[in-house]
Amino acid sequence: MEKLFAKLEELTDEIVTLRRYLHENPELSFQEVETPKFIAAYHEALGHEVRTGVGRRGVVAVLKGGKTGKTVALRADFDALPIQEENEVEYKSKVPGVMHACGHDGHTASLLGLAKALNSMKDDLEGTVVFIHQHAEEVVPGGAVAMIEDGCLDGVDVIYGTHLSSGIPVGEIAYRVGPTMAAADCFEITIEGQGGHGAQPHLTKDALVTAAQLVVNLQQIVSRRVNPLSPAVVSVGSFEAKNAFNVIADKAELKGTVRTFSEDTRDLIEKEIEAVIKATVAANGSNYQYSYTRGYPALVNHKEDTEFVAGLAKDVPGVTNVREEEPHMGGEDFAYYLQHVPGTFFFTGAEIAGREVTYPHHHPKFDIDERALIIAAKTLGAATVKYLQEQSTITAEPAALV
Ligand code: MN
Repeated sequence: MEKLFAKLEELTDEIVTLRRYLHENPELSFQEVETPKFIAAYHEALGHEVRTGVGRRGVVAVLKGGKTGKTVALRADFDALPIQEENEVEYKSKVPGVMHACGHDGHTASLLGLAKALNSMKDDLEGTVVFIHQHAEEVVPGGAVAMIEDGCLDGVDVIYGTHLSSGIPVGEIAYRVGPTMAAADCFEITIEGQGGHGAQPHLTKDALVTAAQLVVNLQQIVSRRVNPLSPAVVSVGSFEAKNAFNVIADKAELKGTVRTFSEDTRDLIEKEIEAVIKATVAANGSNYQYSYTRGYPALVNHKEDTEFVAGLAKDVPGVTNVREEEPHMGGEDFAYYLQHVPGTFFFTGAEIAGREVTYPHHHPKFDIDERALIIAAKTLGAATVKYLQEQSTITAEPAALV
């Protein structure tokens, strides 16, 4: 392990350079062209077996250790967001309206650095490491499902991943066993009323008023239908009924998101939204259209693997605190990998100390403390090496008894 940490120390500047290059050259989900090429070239230079176009735009690289053993997968996403960067930094995004505002540039740089470090000690490595570089994490459906269908998890025994967090101090690793991030769904509702003159409301069926009532009525699903011990969010994020000041709306459109942890609650909310729509439009004499789209499932961390990583994280240089995290209502398509193989997804603190405001992920001023990159790489690397070592000891035991 000391060898791995020492090698990563050596690579610190390179990892920061990689991150800054990626940050300057962001690409949107499903439009990633140069990023996967860049990633593939980096692995090819290391002599790794590389497959591109996995699940459309993903890259999978394989490092075979000098000794046989189990297979560990490490995943980093690489897409950016449709946000205009407002940070005035030397590595500011060069692409107008596109920005790495969630830290995926950092995830990728960390994993590339780690790939180089593990490669330098490959003769001692007791198994195989699969580097899963995933496109399109920020959209639904994202890249994970397609990459899995395209075989990125074939032969994989365990998977680890991390998300940098601008809300957690550098040096902190936050983990959680079980449900950790929410299922993230979306819905769209169109209210079809009957428009008319603003001065003659009695001759119309006002779609805007109906939709406004609906926004309020939807709030009762979480407060009065869902078990208070089951976390849930119903948020309307978009309300459109644009008309002149003296026109009564013919049509109004609502869009929103639902976040849940249990499948029962998810089913209940999908049904209850329609019941509330029906009752609300009935009272106003309007019609409606409703569609509910299921996004990422809840991310459920496996107990044994989570405790394994949490246990070793405290001995990783640079880690000052390892703590249990509260569940998040955010979604993350790492959830799909965990439905297929055991593993864990943890958070690596990346907060920039001394900033007046800590800007959240997806904010035009989001940024990370780059010291977190090396901590993420060391933690993922330590988990990989230790897992392969321990598993090879376990497999070797029966032979030793003979
Ligand atoms: Mn993200």
